Amino acid sequence: MCSVGDSFGVELEGGMEAHEYQCNHCSKNFKGIGTNVRCPKCFSTDVKCLE
Ligand SMILES: [Zn+2]
Repeated sequence: MCSVGDSFGVELEGGMEAHEYQCNHCSKNFKGIGTNVRCPKCFSTDVKCLE
């Protein structure tokens, strides 16, 4: 988990759809876009889609 991702955020780009995710580490709910979703609180990529 050393990758430095800049893909987290809630910006809505054309064609990109935001989905609701929940972090498996801290249980935070957040919206993410794309396949490299990362928790904004603990930066874990161990998240699940709620939709
Ligand atoms: Zn988290």
